[in-house]
Amino acid sequence: MARILVVEDEPAIQELIVCNIELAGHVAIRAESSEQALELVRDSLPDLLLVDWMLPGASGVELARRLRGDRRTQAIPIILLTARSEERDKLAGLEIGADDYITKPFSPRELNARIKAVLRRRAPQATDDVVEIEGLRLDPVGHRVTGDGIDLDLGPTEFRLLHFLMTHTERVHSRTQLLDHVWGDHVFVEERTVDVHIRRLRQALSRSGHDRLVETVRGSGYRLASRPST
Ligand code: CA
Repeated sequence: MARILVVEDEPAIQELIVCNIELAGHVAIRAESSEQALELVRDSLPDLLLVDWMLPGASGVELARRLRGDRRTQAIPIILLTARSEERDKLAGLEIGADDYITKPFSPRELNARIKAVLRRRAPQATDDVVEIEGLRLDPVGHRVTGDGIDLDLGPTEFRLLHFLMTHTERVHSRTQLLDHVWGDHVFVEERTVDVHIRRLRQALSRSGHDRLVETVRGSGYRLASRPST
């Protein structure tokens, strides 16, 4: 399940897209302009943006460019929707950093297939794929975590935190980044909340000894090692 921000000014098309992605099990957030989209993104990072090229005010391409130009938002996957199908436009779209491109009119099946492919590539924590590292296995559909076959009991926040860390290994994540990606709307959450949940996560993983995978990087944040150093 992914949180998808749909930026489309034509109500009928927006409705159609929202219906389709909700049917596919995602959560849709709506915006009618680039400006409104930027405001929503400021509060909470979506897992993916579906952006219409032609928007009132700043265009979809301009929106993509702005998101790519900001460190906080540069990695959010973007799919551009357009009525133009010329190759030149496609190239321009991909050069500004869109991850994919869908030409109107499109079928619901095509839309969902593209979303799935882009999420798999760019935001694996928002897919239903099972992740396994060093005997630690997380199943997003069954909402189940096991370590070497032992059932591990995780709270919902620890589950999301582990899912994000397991799909983004070998990178140090600051507390702010974790709040953005795991908590989403983090405006009223303090940074030390992250430490509390990391502690709970380690405690839950310690039953199978997998707490060793969660590393603290002093002064920077946390990292999940795909091969722990021991
Ligand atoms: Ca439009």
